[in-house]
Amino acid sequence: MDNHSSNFIRDIIIKDLESGKHKEVVTRFPPEPNGYLHIGHAKSIFLNFGLGDEFNGRTNLRFDDTNPLKEDVEYVNSIKEDVKWLGYEWDGLFFASDYFEEMYNRAVLLIKKGLAYVDDLSADEIRALRGTLTEPGQESPYRNRSAEENLDLFVRMRNGEFGNGEKVLRAKIDMKSPNINLRDPVIYRISHTTHHNTGDKWCIYPMYAFAHPIEDAIEGVTHSICTVEFEDQRPLYNWVVEQCEMESTPQQIEFGRLNITNTVMSKRKLKQLVDEGYVDGWDDPRMPTISGMRRKGFTPESIRNFVGETGVSKGSGAVDEQMLEHFVREDLKLKAPRTMGILKPLKVVITNYPEGQVEWLDAEINPEVPEMGMREIPFSREIYIEQDDFMENPPSKYFRLFPGNEVRLKHAYFIKCEEAIKDAEGNVIELRCTYDPETKSGTGFTGRKVKGTIHWVEASQAVPAEFRLYEPLIMDASLEESTDEEKTFLDHVNPKSLEVLNGFVEPNMKEVQPQDKFQFFRHGYFNADPKHTSKDKIVFNRIVSLKSSFKV
Ligand code: ATP
Ligand code: MG
Repeated sequence: MDNHSSNFIRDIIIKDLESGKHKEVVTRFPPEPNGYLHIGHAKSIFLNFGLGDEFNGRTNLRFDDTNPLKEDVEYVNSIKEDVKWLGYEWDGLFFASDYFEEMYNRAVLLIKKGLAYVDDLSADEIRALRGTLTEPGQESPYRNRSAEENLDLFVRMRNGEFGNGEKVLRAKIDMKSPNINLRDPVIYRISHTTHHNTGDKWCIYPMYAFAHPIEDAIEGVTHSICTVEFEDQRPLYNWVVEQCEMESTPQQIEFGRLNITNTVMSKRKLKQLVDEGYVDGWDDPRMPTISGMRRKGFTPESIRNFVGETGVSKGSGAVDEQMLEHFVREDLKLKAPRTMGILKPLKVVITNYPEGQVEWLDAEINPEVPEMGMREIPFSREIYIEQDDFMENPPSKYFRLFPGNEVRLKHAYFIKCEEAIKDAEGNVIELRCTYDPETKSGTGFTGRKVKGTIHWVEASQAVPAEFRLYEPLIMDASLEESTDEEKTFLDHVNPKSLEVLNGFVEPNMKEVQPQDKFQFFRHGYFNADPKHTSKDKIVFNRIVSLKSSFKV
């Protein structure tokens, strides 16, 4: 569905098809259901589904659910919804937990071949003997148990005879390998935890590094695309596929993660923001989650176009958040109706406009798309304008309202500020203006020019609306790299990431439905919030303001 731009993964696939190594391309998107999907996952989805689609292959959605402590059906359901919403259809829907029996059998095979052993060392002891990048590891005293003994112990592990952490199964590879991942990695652990899918059937669970290659091989995945932090695990991945005697040989290919400035992007950190109440759930519009972005008002097209444009490489620098905003503006420009809304209202009385009269003015719904037609907006003696569009003592180059100055009301007339009414504290609470009937918009008036055009909403029919304006939730671009991450990233939560304003919109907005999107004149693109918009109340989330300096 999207542009198939060239990249090194695509080149590998083309080569594999040409050489006859594979007849069909099979990819998969393998999320762990331990959180909601974020924009980084969208990149992986885009790549896997995009490549499957381009080469008429298959793409599976596979839940990598091997760690029951952190996983939940809530996450499974949200992930399915988000993948569909992004516009993708999976061929197979699988769970790693469907393969637990098969994985167990493959582990037994390794034991029988003398390639796996049960270790009684604790996690700390195993770590202490693992060595470092410069020092080789040391062998566990349990490393040379016989296959019979290992088999017996592994069966008893499965049967629940041991407590959590009492024993593990390790692959027997090479404690001196320069690649630490090959120093007898743990491949099974004991965890007496109920699993969202298999319940209490299992109390031993396979480790990711063992499970993932088997999952890929079972499904006949040809190209197993993952992020670069798994590069050092590739030799282990290949070892598992080979030694477990899998019939199919998937190839792991790594690419650089997507990071975005002023954003944290790991489910663990996002979960922390949710659990500690920094945000209103995983779908808070400030979150970089797919559900948060949907609620804020991003479209699937804008997200796909954005991740497509970020390119595929081994590096992983942070992409400017403005690039993301650029793509949603581009997508909504021709789709969103234009309208006027007042975020911080100031009442204006047009003293020479006949009392009790209401006239209806014609305005284009979207001047760039004439087919969208026209809307009618009422005009009368009382309107609201933005507080910011009036200044009593303006600096030079201020072309909006100030005493004695004339401006154009968008779609209506020129008005001139005659007087500012103040309350006891001296705050301006109302303006008295006059209008010039000759200057009606669309009549071709050329008598004189004004420099400012401001927006407005007729007061008697105005519909109240709440506006939510957002700033980045995290204010520091370099956090994703930070070592003292937990502390650092929570220390940088922006206390001003949400501003709530109460204003007015045009009367034709009464029927607004959740997720309807508009371009508000001068304010940007807004989405009707699906959680808070009801018959009685409209809440608009600002998706993005109108202008950006970003150029693609
Ligand atoms: P997180 O660190 O956010 O928890 P993860 O990598 O643990 O992410 P998984 O559920 O394992 O999350 O991810 C599913 C797939 O999405 C994996 O193939 C993973 O490599 C990919 N992925 C995750 N984050 C990104 C990202 N920022 N950019 C590109 N791909 C990503
Ligand atoms: Mg993970």
